[in-house]
Amino acid sequence: GKGLAVFTSGGDSQGMNAAVRACVRMAIYLGCKAYFIREGYQGMVDGGDNIVEANWASVSSIIHRGGTVIGSARCAEFRERAGRLKAAFNLIQKGISNLVVIGGDGSLTGANCFRNEWSGLLDELLESKKITPEQRKKFDVLHIVGMVGSIDNDFCGTDMTIGTDSALHRIIEAIDAIVSTAYSHQRTFIMEVMGRHCGYLALVAGLSSEADYIFIPENPPRADWPDRLCQQLSQERNAGQRLNIIIVAEGAIDREGNPITAEDVKKVVVDKLQQDTRITVLGHVQRGGNPSAFDRVLGCRMGAEATLALMEATSDSVPCVVSLDGNQAVRVPLMECVERTKEVAQAMAEKNWELAVKLRGRS
Ligand code: ADP
Repeated sequence: GKGLAVFTSGGDSQGMNAAVRACVRMAIYLGCKAYFIREGYQGMVDGGDNIVEANWASVSSIIHRGGTVIGSARCAEFRERAGRLKAAFNLIQKGISNLVVIGGDGSLTGANCFRNEWSGLLDELLESKKITPEQRKKFDVLHIVGMVGSIDNDFCGTDMTIGTDSALHRIIEAIDAIVSTAYSHQRTFIMEVMGRHCGYLALVAGLSSEADYIFIPENPPRADWPDRLCQQLSQERNAGQRLNIIIVAEGAIDREGNPITAEDVKKVVVDKLQQDTRITVLGHVQRGGNPSAFDRVLGCRMGAEATLALMEATSDSVPCVVSLDGNQAVRVPLMECVERTKEVAQAMAEKNWELAVKLRGRS
């Protein structure tokens, strides 16, 4: 059968293990050889023990674990052709010409670039006699399929990315804990959550914890935000509320594009209202811990679909990313989604927030 390898790349997220498991098991079920590549592109470039055959049992007891058990890394070498040449050689040695990449838009872009270059890389390997003419012919095309693992939900073309739901659970747990102590002492808490270019976590966490104010990069407040914030906080206190919760996405900005940090917000609240105010930065806690049921099932469905897509791929099929559309795992063109994700970043940089939100679509 065909050789298929799965790897995780870029930032980790909860649910990646479920995706790896489903990929491997679907591949074995279909009679293929399945491999793990450890440490993302770095493992592909280094080869050796980093590329190992997986069996049914080697993906047992990982579905409940956070992060990625096969490791992830950033890899400068893979950005260069020389690094990709090594990677191609290592894959051919194992009989692999089908890849499942689980990562963010950087990792998917890298995979697409590798695919486009593949036949040139193989020609070079053939010329230097590192591979045989039979290998050159047999592994003529590199098939790739992507899945997006990201807690930020920052990718265009899917309703949810793998890990977002678990991160939200973690944030909500933390806010609930903070709320009880804030209540006792009549405090105001400012929570900084992840999301460099995407306010999804801050927005949904705010909605589900009845936060009083939310700062997200897609909706920068007017210059008079300090007055409006204080008015809102006072109004809640006057109505009998004993505490205030403010959520700040790490990428929050004002309309000039300057960052609004938790410290900036605290200064306003302390100076204008003299409230007892504390900051909690959740940081990597949001990435940690067990995946939610949603992320486990999402990973399972996407992983199975990714393997199916690879098995059905032909030399002229367009590489796809498996995404969630409503409640369905569907295949969408990989580079179209990557391009649109980049357009969102561009629109944000140009302070065209309305366009950014429109481009990002319904999530
Ligand atoms: P993410 O996948 O989370 O967006 P990065 O942007 O850091 O994370 O990308 C992860 C890895 O993917 C990089 O370390 C690099 O090895 C590879 N990569 C990213 N962009 C490219 C590219 N344009 N060409 C080749 N490899 C790339």
